[in-house]
Amino acid sequence: NHLKKYFPITGGIFGKKIGEVKAVDGVSFAVYQGETLGLVGESGCGKSTIGRVLLRLLEITDGEVRFEDKDIHTLKASNMKKIRKDMQLVFQDPYASLNPRHKVEKILEEPLIVHGIKNKKERKERIYAMLETVGLDRYHASRYPHQFSGGQRQRIGIARALMTHPKLIIADEPVSALDVSIQSQVLNLLKDLQAEFDLTYIFIAHDLGVVRHISDRVGVMYLGRMVELTDSEQLYEQPLHPYTKSLLSSVPVPDPDYRSESDILTGEIPSASNPPAGCAFHTRCKECMDVCKTTRPTFQEVNPGHHVACHLYGDA
Ligand code: SF4
Ligand code: MG
Repeated sequence: NHLKKYFPITGGIFGKKIGEVKAVDGVSFAVYQGETLGLVGESGCGKSTIGRVLLRLLEITDGEVRFEDKDIHTLKASNMKKIRKDMQLVFQDPYASLNPRHKVEKILEEPLIVHGIKNKKERKERIYAMLETVGLDRYHASRYPHQFSGGQRQRIGIARALMTHPKLIIADEPVSALDVSIQSQVLNLLKDLQAEFDLTYIFIAHDLGVVRHISDRVGVMYLGRMVELTDSEQLYEQPLHPYTKSLLSSVPVPDPDYRSESDILTGEIPSASNPPAGCAFHTRCKECMDVCKTTRPTFQEVNPGHHVACHLYGDA
């Protein structure tokens, strides 16, 4: 609710605060149990920051994050630790996120130790079973990360996230670093695991193509704000926000009628440390009106379940 995460910009020899980057600037949404929510936007839109704020890997500047019924940013460390096993992160670059000096076995054992699985035999069995669940095998346990391909490494990253039987997985561009041919294998794996373990996903991506087939709903972000949120079908077939339309025009879509030249995105993304007044998208929007330059549009529900922040819609 009303999530804000600002990072200070410091300068000079005394490191005085000279400004701030509003990485996330007033974002509200819900994620329902068992669904996949896609979060999409260009780099710098705040989507990864949201992922980290939700897991409390970053402290919040303002707002509230509720997981089930708990306000997680007010929990004491001991209570937070209990919840951590329910919420896990899968990283973009599996190679960078796996310790190169540790065997796979050790990488997968660590979360079990942290969360108090004391029996060594039980840990081993769980590691072997999980390797098989993600499409590897138990013999891989004694190898090092560099002995695997990119796709296999992401399977290890996913296995690590699943070791504690989490309820929520935040996947931050989990296939962006992989070859296109491998991407769909990993996406299919994530889908299968969701059904098997009753997982809820927040799936972060920088383009709408990747999240299309995995998301039940999609939220589009621009410069720290959510600009549109609705169910996948609606978003891909009847997008409302001009920015969503631009993003879609750069993705191959099955319906070529939909793609319109006029939606192609032009201009640079403005700096997040100095976002435009009013609607942050107004410097690149072809439908920009006078009101857009001065007044920030509110994020409102314009059709059932379809939220958008744009002066073209609703009673903004
Ligand atoms: Fe474009 Fe105005 Fe809508 Fe912003 S509020 S997306 S500038 S029409
Ligand atoms: Mg990112």
